[in-house]
Amino acid sequence: MQQEVTPLGFTRIKRVAPIAVNTHGGRAKCLQRLVRLDLPVPLTVALGFDAVHQLAEGRPIDITALLNVFGDAPLLSVRPSSEDPDWGGPGAILNIGMNDARHAELAEQYGQDDADTLYLRFVQAYAVHVERLDPELFEFDNSLTSGEALQRALEFYFEETDEDFPQDISLQLISVLRSMARAWEGTTARLLRQAKGAPADAGLGLVVQAMAPGLGGAQSGSGVVQLIDPNTGEQIVKGRFTRKSSDPAAPASATETLYLAKDPRGPSLEDVLPKAYTQLVHWAQICRTRLREEMEVKFTIQDGELHIIDAVRVPRSSRAALRAAVQLAEDKVIPVEEAICRVPPRSLTELLHQQVDPDAPRDVAARGIAASPGGAVGKIVFTSDAAQASEARGEPCILVRRETAPEDIRGMHSSVGVVTERGGATSHAAVIARGMGLPCVVGAGLRINHRKRTLTLEDGRELAEGDTLTVDGTMGEALMGEAKMLPVVKDKWYLQLMEWADSIRDIGVRANADTPADAAVARDFKAQGIGLCRTEHMFFEGDRLTVMREMIFAQTREDRHEVIARLLPMQRADFTELFQIMQGQPVCIRLFDPPLHEFLPSDRAGAKELAEALDLPLSDVTRRIEWLSEFNPMLGMRGVRLGITFPEIYEMQARAIFEATVEASKHGDPVVPEIMIPLVSAKREVELVKARVDAVATAVRGETGADFDYRLGVMVETPRAALRAHEIAQHAAFLSFGTNDLTQMAYGLSRDDAGRFMNAYVQQGVFPEDPFHTLDPDGVGELLQIGAERGRTTKPDLTLGLCGEHGGNPESIAFCRTAGFDYVSCSPFRVPVARLAAAQLVAKERLER
Ligand code: PEP
Ligand code: MG
Repeated sequence: MQQEVTPLGFTRIKRVAPIAVNTHGGRAKCLQRLVRLDLPVPLTVALGFDAVHQLAEGRPIDITALLNVFGDAPLLSVRPSSEDPDWGGPGAILNIGMNDARHAELAEQYGQDDADTLYLRFVQAYAVHVERLDPELFEFDNSLTSGEALQRALEFYFEETDEDFPQDISLQLISVLRSMARAWEGTTARLLRQAKGAPADAGLGLVVQAMAPGLGGAQSGSGVVQLIDPNTGEQIVKGRFTRKSSDPAAPASATETLYLAKDPRGPSLEDVLPKAYTQLVHWAQICRTRLREEMEVKFTIQDGELHIIDAVRVPRSSRAALRAAVQLAEDKVIPVEEAICRVPPRSLTELLHQQVDPDAPRDVAARGIAASPGGAVGKIVFTSDAAQASEARGEPCILVRRETAPEDIRGMHSSVGVVTERGGATSHAAVIARGMGLPCVVGAGLRINHRKRTLTLEDGRELAEGDTLTVDGTMGEALMGEAKMLPVVKDKWYLQLMEWADSIRDIGVRANADTPADAAVARDFKAQGIGLCRTEHMFFEGDRLTVMREMIFAQTREDRHEVIARLLPMQRADFTELFQIMQGQPVCIRLFDPPLHEFLPSDRAGAKELAEALDLPLSDVTRRIEWLSEFNPMLGMRGVRLGITFPEIYEMQARAIFEATVEASKHGDPVVPEIMIPLVSAKREVELVKARVDAVATAVRGETGADFDYRLGVMVETPRAALRAHEIAQHAAFLSFGTNDLTQMAYGLSRDDAGRFMNAYVQQGVFPEDPFHTLDPDGVGELLQIGAERGRTTKPDLTLGLCGEHGGNPESIAFCRTAGFDYVSCSPFRVPVARLAAAQLVAKERLER
């Protein structure tokens, strides 16, 4: 193989030349592919990452050797070539080689005006990007002709630098190369690309290309073409052609710019140069099929002759990216596995929620943690009652709270979005909002003044109840007023992609769903069952809260039994409905988990109201509240501890589950309920609860004469449960890892308060990510691994699942799949994200084979 490499590490781009994305960047590699396709690409030379880095450091280079490649008096362009187009880079500089002599020559050939324009553009670019002169000095309005503007630009250049504009092309080129190399090394550029995932030592390549200046009357110019609409992905010829221009990116006045395809709004390239148009579209199609991607192709036409100067991936919306991937696979340009891998799972959340238009102007009121994606507009309310009143009036509202508590659930149901002053990624508001698919920002930079019913922003602005606010839960921002929205997209391209994904996926995806509405969404998103039904949420609804409170105030065991008997039919109806919606799919019901004080009012007015409702002296009520209050309720009397201390609650729930099983199985597919015990830390806890649940099952079988199966499992969410999983598994059909509490307890980090310092921790690199957001693979991950291994030692067919908020994250899914888990469970709206992420793991393996 013959390789023509210039002595200084410059490589001429030919069919065979050592050009790779990781040494010369994506643009250089793409140009080589175009050359291999026999497209008319002007002569191009690539500088690799090492050469560019050395240039930035000031090492001298032999520019003559480089210029010799291009022959006599060329006009050149230099473009950046980074490894990933999203990492940015310095802007292109064109028309290198323009000087007084070349200017005179071009004026003769193409006319004074065009020659003036070309020289002017180069002087402007050189002055601003190479000499770093003030850009404003070199901006001229239309009152000057190009010739006058050129004269001024040359004069200003002299005044600012004390030198004439350089006439020597060698000097021009070396200065341009060095300035672009240094721009890449600058701190701002580095931080910007690192924010987009570039490594600290990401390199820059440069490509130097001979230019066809695009002058020469109506038959000349430059443009871009792409074969899809960048917003929708629809297959359509898009782009523009600017006459008498050498820069496809240059903004051009309307009179000079043509549409590409025939267009009723004005003249097109197809009208004016039909042959060139047909050839261009043909080549663009070749680029698509051979580069296996939707490409934006830059071209020039010189005296009717077409040149392809560059091609990059079409910058596109998430929606267009999905459709493009599916379309490429349907056209057999790429395999289905590759289409699956090309769509970032998180981009689906953009399609499945109404979104704030990212391109519309935004006035940010407050920034916080992006707790639940999507966008919503409504009027500010500060209490759940106000939210319900607003809903009743048909006015969409945004619930703004210091933090939310279980008693706010009804208010959240009545709101279209939620903003809280406090809280982190797994605080109450975040978890509930994600479950409901409600856009939510927590830990937002604002202060609520409850008395005045206003909120104060960090910049001092004040908003009052009733003012309009937009929640952008995707970006983690609250915006002033009503922002522009983009609609939900669930088109046939999405459905096709998901069908492919499900056909190869090998780990189950269930949904965390507490209500029939959640379950319906879960089914709609094709969840394979419910992995976590948090039953306590059912007790905050309507009349049940009152009954729940009566139970808490029951004086005797008998009284408690009497109240619980009233809860039984309600729970039975809840479960029957869930089973019916899920049509025989597994439904995992977690027994009651939260501390009882969450059901009691937190202020005096509430306590008084409760005293009236229960006809008790206020002092009885306050005494009970005090008795139930704990210093650290998250580690207090909750979960199985409550189930063992007051067994009536779990017994009632087990009975409701079994009776509902019998009921739902009568009319539909047989139901095999899963019952899950929360917050277990010792085997004995499981034994005690299991004995009672088994006894209830026997009783219900006897009473109804119906037979049914059920599976009892344990939620592993304390470190000790993970460590003792081999013992616990003796009595469990499944273990489901609750990574919210497990993270909280592994780190000793409150999930409700961590938001206050999490940003500082992540910024200073104490934690690479918020561990409530992204599963900590080292510490918490090791506990999962230990739990899984030890559990399966006792019981090789033990079912393993994960139901914390991490369940929908691609990284956690990869972890669970490697550790041999059977399923992950996440909030319904994240089910599609999880399905796609899981499928990508298989697709990648197949593509690598
Ligand atoms: C968990 O702790 O991970 C969990 C799923 O339960 P909850 O969020 O209800 O505590
Ligand atoms: Mg938990």
